[in-house]
Amino acid sequence: MPRKLVLFDIDGTLLNVGPVNRRVIQDALLEVYGTEGSAATHSFAGRMDNVIIREVLEETELAAEEIEEKFDRAKAAYIRLFRERATPADVTLTEGVVPLLERLASRTDILVGLLTGNFEASGRHKLKLPGINHFFPFGAFADDAPHRNDLPAVAVEKARQLTGERFSGHDVVVIGDTEHDINCARAHGALALAVATGTYSLDRLRTHEPDVLLENLNRPDIVIGEILRPSTI
Ligand SMILES: [Mg+2]
Repeated sequence: MPRKLVLFDIDGTLLNVGPVNRRVIQDALLEVYGTEGSAATHSFAGRMDNVIIREVLEETELAAEEIEEKFDRAKAAYIRLFRERATPADVTLTEGVVPLLERLASRTDILVGLLTGNFEASGRHKLKLPGINHFFPFGAFADDAPHRNDLPAVAVEKARQLTGERFSGHDVVVIGDTEHDINCARAHGALALAVATGTYSLDRLRTHEPDVLLENLNRPDIVIGEILRPSTI
């Protein structure tokens, strides 16, 4: 049987970050564009950082060309400010994550990576603060593609570069906390495992019909059983 490739979302799935993240986005936009747009209230859950920056500036007076022209500076300012300000106290791991990652790391039939809307530099910092970055040898990030649905293919290609293995859609499991994670799993023919450890409730996630729905990740045997479940595709 081919190995399974398990791709974890970060925010709301592996961990939750306190208000510092939104504050940093606001300050980075103010620094570069002179306005924070709707960053104080915009829903960030499941959205890519590159998309968030553009969406929150949509209702401002800024011309589209200016938004694009300064985008790389805004991204750099966000990453710089996040690394300066975020501390371990700002990050809370979700229930059961460390024991699950330890169990996954000990298995030869499962390869673990990231599939996240974070920029790589800030996403890696989020993982380093609580000491879980080393569990993820590779990942697909907001730097890699404009849309989340493009990220599974990026992750599969990075897994191939790292291991030489070619993972088909049905050998891939995407673990995330919003419908955006579920949809991107679908777009790639992967198994969608949704977990209600972010801002979405079990009921809200259920309406998006994930293949597997869990309250949290604190029962490694159940999570691993679902990951290894033979595909029906
Ligand atoms: Mg998330």
